[in-house]
Amino acid sequence: MNPARLIDGRAAAAGLLETVKEDVAKLQASGVSVTLAVVLVGDDPASHVYVRSKLLRASEVGIRSVEHRLPADTAQATLLSLIEALNSDARVNGILVQMPLPEQIDEGAVIATIAAEKDVDGFHRENVGRLVLGEPALTPCTPSGCLFLLEHTLGDLSGKHAVVIGRSNIVGKPMASLLLQANCSVTILHSHSVDARELCRQADIVVAAVGRAQMIDASWIKPGATVIDVGINRIEIDGRTRLVGDIEFESVSRVAGAITPVPGGVGPMTIGFLMRNTVLAAKGQSLKSVSAKPAQREILRCRATDRVSERS
Ligand code: NAD
Repeated sequence: MNPARLIDGRAAAAGLLETVKEDVAKLQASGVSVTLAVVLVGDDPASHVYVRSKLLRASEVGIRSVEHRLPADTAQATLLSLIEALNSDARVNGILVQMPLPEQIDEGAVIATIAAEKDVDGFHRENVGRLVLGEPALTPCTPSGCLFLLEHTLGDLSGKHAVVIGRSNIVGKPMASLLLQANCSVTILHSHSVDARELCRQADIVVAAVGRAQMIDASWIKPGATVIDVGINRIEIDGRTRLVGDIEFESVSRVAGAITPVPGGVGPMTIGFLMRNTVLAAKGQSLKSVSAKPAQREILRCRATDRVSERS
């Protein structure tokens, strides 16, 4: 059997960011300066790294960013007041609060406070509900990136059997909803699933989002299946730290038809979709504006490639 085709997330994200950049320039020409507010609470080193790369990507595509750094002992009420101020600031199109938050802050309360139309992470219950109902929504960045890679690799996904391993609110559940809307038959596996390996072996598409290093080996994979590895795990090999996914890449790449690497697969798509969600949010807000003239409306109209859910 031929080795699996490698799905290049870096190249796909670069293409996506080019279209985002064009859209940002068009919005700028129509008087909208696309703006993302990024809120970082505390000193978590990984969060600082993530925020830095999000701000860098934003500046590369012409999105203005406004950064708010708060100390680790920030009270929940202070953070919620800041979010409310950003909600009512018409110059801000998207709000991102970097997770995880310090333990005195309830993440659910934070997500619920962000205005749904500025919720570029797609975590607000209004966006979650819209996604499940098949209505236009800001959808979570990582699963949106996975779907983009799948459609990029396979074209129309109608009728394919997709297995999603993991049922978190940020990856597994929205991934299943997106695949359902793409007309897949969807199975969700989780920590209580029985015969998970056998169920997975029936899949044309496998999306692994578990957080367990190399848990899924070739015995889980149907020959020729397309495999998307969301997992990011750090392991020690020969005294050096290496990043690996949930998929045991070496054996699975000999069986699968196509596979994402870690790193360089899903990761770059996540930031790409954050930028694309910020543009979608700006477009949505501008369309609502009563002052938008017909010509502006045409510029702001979502493209066909923008993922709004309209299939039933
Ligand atoms: P999570 O811990 O919230 O959820 C893990 C899920 O795996 C749970 O639903 C659980 O039921 C399931 N699970 C656990 N053990 C299992 C088993 N033995 N069999 C089947 N299912 C099992 O994790 P998450 O936030 O969804 O993230 C999952 C992974 O994806 C992590 O490695 C995380 O770092 C990574 N991640 C990557 C990106 C990216 O941009 N590439 C973004 C988000 C998360």
